[in-house]
Amino acid sequence: MDIDGVLADAAHRQWHLDGPTRDWNGFFAAASGDALLAHHAELVHCLDPGLQVVLLTARPFRLRRLTLAWIEQHGLRWDLLALRGPTEDMLHSVRFKRRALAVLRSYGFTPVFALEDDPRIVEMYAGEALPCVYVHSGYYG
Ligand SMILES: [Mg+2]
Repeated sequence: MDIDGVLADAAHRQWHLDGPTRDWNGFFAAASGDALLAHHAELVHCLDPGLQVVLLTARPFRLRRLTLAWIEQHGLRWDLLALRGPTEDMLHSVRFKRRALAVLRSYGFTPVFALEDDPRIVEMYAGEALPCVYVHSGYYG
């Protein structure tokens, strides 16, 4: 499951990315104020209890505590949180998630489907033979 645009409504902080230079620090720092996209969170709750829920986000690793607090605050169902590691900061989110999917598979996970709002990542998952449900957010970082 993606977080931004799927479980978290990041619309209120998109303006940080609208200027001539994208302010990623400001964009991410405001993430604690995201509203929950409750229908999507409910969908995750309804999944087979035997499935493990992996939250895979291109948020940088330094947002780990903020993200965990937000997850806790909203009572999300989850088993594993994967963020962009310190050495992956410059990786494009598509490359990052392709690599993360390969890592998950190498650890024995057999992902059954993804929820994602970035069409480029939906496309990448299709290429990696992972069914993906597209969620329209109207934005993606
Ligand atoms: Mg997203």
